[in-house]
Parts: sequence; structure tokens; C-alpha cells
Amino acid sequence: MEDAEHRYVAPGCTLCREGAKLVLFVTGRCDRDCWYCPLSAERKGVDRVFANDREVRTDEDLLAEARVMSALGTGVTGGDPLLAPERVARYCRLLKEAFGPDHQVHLYTGRAPTRAELLPLVGLVDELRLHPPHEDWARILETAYPEAIREARALGFAIGVEVPALPGVEGLAPLLPLVDFFNINELEWGEANADGMRERGLTLADRVGNAIAGARDWAAPLLDFERVRFCSSVFKDAVQLRGRMLRIARNTARPFDECTDDGTVVYGRLRPAGGVEPAIAALELEEDEYEVADDGLELAWWRLAEGRDTVEGEKAVVERYPNRGMIVEVTPL
Ligand code: SF4
Repeated sequence: MEDAEHRYVAPGCTLCREGAKLVLFVTGRCDRDCWYCPLSAERKGVDRVFANDREVRTDEDLLAEARVMSALGTGVTGGDPLLAPERVARYCRLLKEAFGPDHQVHLYTGRAPTRAELLPLVGLVDELRLHPPHEDWARILETAYPEAIREARALGFAIGVEVPALPGVEGLAPLLPLVDFFNINELEWGEANADGMRERGLTLADRVGNAIAGARDWAAPLLDFERVRFCSSVFKDAVQLRGRMLRIARNTARPFDECTDDGTVVYGRLRPAGGVEPAIAALELEEDEYEVADDGLELAWWRLAEGRDTVEGEKAVVERYPNRGMIVEVTPL
């Protein structure tokens, strides 16, 4: 028997756990102003599109990002994606046409969507995740959300609630019999919501992560229900992000890159004092054993370590996120 954290997994979460879900941010616009909103200043209110961290300017940008991580599904997020419904439909159609109807799509919204809003998404979005406003939680049955859930179900969507762990989350319990799943995300401290957190006397759970002290206790009254799942901040970083990085590393690593269990790649970097060509000759590198990059010659870190006395120049071991992502560490050799 699984523990409360892992007992029930929504269909879209199964792929998320494997790091196989692309995150498609369709707009930073939102008609709400939640004090705990995690959106950064670069994204909040800004009408731009991102696939994971890549800005989408063309259809090919989106498809390339999906391919590089071998995405099996997409989570559509924002802002509120339903403020850009034509964009949502267009991108979801593009993804389903490119990767097949089984490419699973879930969509977050803060709205209680009407039948008219949902109809254009039939066949393009598989799963809906509703985020009712915090101020409505204690009177949720008097809001438009129960009707939205019934409409969504009648149209064939998998339907669930996804909210941050906040005091009063148990007020949403009357929705449990109506939904397929109910996800509670551990509230996270961020640059954008730090002032709101401080004003409410909230503090960090520990010195290493971003989780807020007390989040699990607020969720506790609901955790015994079968459909409820608590998604911890650590889980998101450790499992989801790592899984995605591993997939990207597998698809993009060069023959001489070493892939780590954390989803990073490690290689050697030489900035040769006497030019690239003499260094390649001195290290006796075959064609597929190096790459000339902007900042020098890149090769297997252990080849550089072995040959360190045969070439002059600045030598280092570089660890970074795959596909020339962020550099994590540079260790001089
Ligand atoms: S609904 Fe979501 S995106 Fe909109 S303000 Fe609230 S947390 Fe931010």
C-alpha cells in the first residue's frame, strides 16, 4: 500500500513524475491577483509563450522543445490559459498532430469554465485542473465550480482540483465526490510572493528548500481521502525536474559527454594557449571525441585529465544542464 503522498496519481501526473511532460506557458495574463502567486516578474502579466524555459516564437520552437525531451504529454499553464483560448487550441492541435492523439494534455485554469469555453477544447485537452480562488474555498458549493466540473465531465474531460496548500484547504472537501483527482501542492516561497508570505507571518520550513512551514499540516485533513495527492516541493525538484533533465541529456549528449544521475552532463573544457588544432593533435583526438565551441575545445573530461601535461592552456571540468543549459560547476584541472 502506497503512502498518502503517492497513493493516487492523476493521469497527467504519471507523465509528470517521469519528467515526460512539457510545460507550455501560454500567457502570463490572469484576471486574478492571488497573494501567493508564484509567477516571476518576467512572466506575470506578460503575454509571451514559453515551452519549458524556451521562448516560443514559431511552431517549430514548441515542437523542438517537445522533441528534445521526448515529451509524452504537455501541461498547459499561465497566467490563465483560458484568457488565450485560441492559442491553447492551436498549440494543443499542433502537439496532437505532431505526436499523436495519445500525447496527453492537461490544462490549469483559475476560472470555472463554461460549456462554451470547454467545447473548443474537446479532443485537444484531456484533463482539466481547476484552481478556485482562496476566498471561495469555504463556500465552494455556492460558486460556479461544481457546475463547471459537471460540464467538463459530461464533455469527457478528466477533471480535478489543483490548489496550493493553504490554511482552509479542507473547505474544498465538498468537491471531492465530483472530481477524478484532487492535488494539493506544497506552498513555495518565491521572489514574487515573499512579501505576501511575510505579511501573513509565514516562514520557510528549513534552510535548504522553498517549502513553507505548516503546508503539510494544512493539507492533513484531506490526505486520508483516496483522490487526494500532496505534491511536495522536494518531489517537484527531485523527481519531475530531474526526470526531464535526464530525458534531455539522453537525447542531446555528445559521445564524449558523461551523463550524471542528476540529469546534468560533464565534460572537459580546454582553452588552448597555442590554438585549437595543435591541441587536437597533441591529445590525439578523433573527430567524434571533441567539439570546438565558442569558449574553447570540449572533450571527455577524463581525456583532458589524462593529457593535461601535453597541452598548455586553461583546463576545467564543466558540469551543466543538458542542451547547453545552465552551468552548475566549473572545476579547474
Ligand atoms: S490564478 Fe494562478 S496565475 Fe493567476 S494570480 Fe492566482 S496563482 Fe497567479
